[in-house]
Amino acid sequence: MKVIETIKEMQSKATSILTSGKSIGFVPTMGFLHEGHLALIKKAREENEIVVASIFVNPLQFGPNEDFETYPRDFERDRVLAEENGVDYLFYPSVEEMYPAKMTIKLTVAKRVDCLCGRTRIGHFDGVATVLLKLFSIVRPNRVYFGLKDAQQVAVVDGLIKDFNLPIQLCPVDTVREEDGLAKSSRNVYLTGSERKEAKELYQSLLIGKERIKKGEKDPKNVVEAIQNYLNSSVSGSVEYVEVLSYPELEELRELHGRIILALAVKFSKARLIDNIIIDVDRLK
Ligand code: AMP
Repeated sequence: MKVIETIKEMQSKATSILTSGKSIGFVPTMGFLHEGHLALIKKAREENEIVVASIFVNPLQFGPNEDFETYPRDFERDRVLAEENGVDYLFYPSVEEMYPAKMTIKLTVAKRVDCLCGRTRIGHFDGVATVLLKLFSIVRPNRVYFGLKDAQQVAVVDGLIKDFNLPIQLCPVDTVREEDGLAKSSRNVYLTGSERKEAKELYQSLLIGKERIKKGEKDPKNVVEAIQNYLNSSVSGSVEYVEVLSYPELEELRELHGRIILALAVKFSKARLIDNIIIDVDRLK
């Protein structure tokens, strides 16, 4: 595996790979790799001749009161994990390399962001779309791999690829969980011991919502209420949102049908955790 730190080198490597007729699978990350990231790398490895992963903690997608400075970082450990899991090129640019000057063009995500995390993380998805458009034109991937743990991000990337006619296939990957159901996340290290024990209830609450739908509940409000009640009685963190929407459009539904997402965010003392499940109501058994 080769670590590449400059845009110029990454771009010329990508060009020569594509010229030789090989496909590039790309896994963008912010590092502090865990099994969730490794599942994306594994999928990319299976489906492409060359696998590129990136590690870049993108300042543009963090709000002023968010954790950009303290976001967990451990490049040496990530480098070993990436290599062991079959990454061919690890793109690891500095902030100065990616943003040498103020941007001339500003991207604003216009749909799919007035809900879920987009409601409180103002500008977050603008920053995500900006860095991904840059990364896509640097790495020139045929396929990109994103985790459904960040389902709203997948919905935004879907819009980005379609709106700008990018010749890229979006490959969503299922959420990887701990044994007790907690979605793996780099931010789980911020949890205190007792919060970690409670954190499994996030997934449990989503399963309770799913069960209600399975039993025939069609009103999204009742599903939201069931999830919310369960969370309020089982976690000490504050529930930021519980929403049930269409997926990937992320629109409100009067009656539940088709593909939907049950999603939530809970704020613990130092960690804000998100989780979701996506189900097809008409095919639930
Ligand atoms: P991050 O480093 O948090 O920006 O995540 C990089 C990629 O890994 C994103 O596409 C995430 O959705 C994905 N990812 C993070 N956690 C998980 C998980 N538990 N399961 C599957 N994918 C994940």
